[in-house]
Amino acid sequence: MGKVYLVGAGPGAADLLTVRAARLLQQADVVFHDALVDGDVLALAPRAQLVAVGKRCGQLSTVQQFINRQLVDAARRHACVVRLKGGDPMLFGRAQEEIAALAKAGIEVEVVPGISAAFGASSALGLSLTRRGLSRSVVFLTPAVGSGERPHAWADAARGADTVVLYMASRQAEAIAQGLMANGMPPGRPAVLVENASLPAQRVLPTTLGRLPEAAQQLGTGPALIMVGEIYAELLEQAAGRLEAETRRTAAA
Ligand code: SAH
Repeated sequence: MGKVYLVGAGPGAADLLTVRAARLLQQADVVFHDALVDGDVLALAPRAQLVAVGKRCGQLSTVQQFINRQLVDAARRHACVVRLKGGDPMLFGRAQEEIAALAKAGIEVEVVPGISAAFGASSALGLSLTRRGLSRSVVFLTPAVGSGERPHAWADAARGADTVVLYMASRQAEAIAQGLMANGMPPGRPAVLVENASLPAQRVLPTTLGRLPEAAQQLGTGPALIMVGEIYAELLEQAAGRLEAETRRTAAA
């Protein structure tokens, strides 16, 4: 009987993998990976059979139960099975379902942490999530609605948090802005969209909560985070400064 490793692939850049993750990829017989995992990361598993099991919103999704069964089957046939998950496996990654299914089948599981998108994005921005005097709390939140939940129930979780990081949310920016404002957040609260954090295609779009839907229209097809909080005011000031300098240059010309 083999062993299954749930491994964090980090936000995208292959050199943001942990050393442990890279070592396991090298040894892996099979790698089950999310659609989000970059080709450079998969290249670190030269001898493994690669199986894409990713779920992406709007695309054909492989049912979680099917993934669980595939992991169990693979562990019965191979010594080293890696389940590679974007970011950190323990954050919005359905890790618990996979751990439970493997435990039930009597298969050993080990989790290897990874750098979550929120940390990749914060490093890219150069802005601390817990900047002294502005943010003493951070909430990681997804608007994905559980069955039977009332709409906007997710927004309650943002209450009281200084900084809010929303995963799997960028394609519903309008509903996000509405939900947070209905919960008392002011439309002028600074926000930023970060797409493809840590990758060459990284994009940063500073905005405010009220203008979030407009800013989200500029996003491409990559994974993106919505981040909201006073700590992002600095990005708006920088953007305003750049605009002013440009206006002055144009006026002088
Ligand atoms: N376990 C992952 C999150 C999985 S949910 C982690 O810890 O990061 C998938 C969501 O993560 C995407 O919808 C997007 O909101 C976010 N995400 C993943 N990679 C990202 C990246 N490189 N840049 C910005 N957001 C990213």
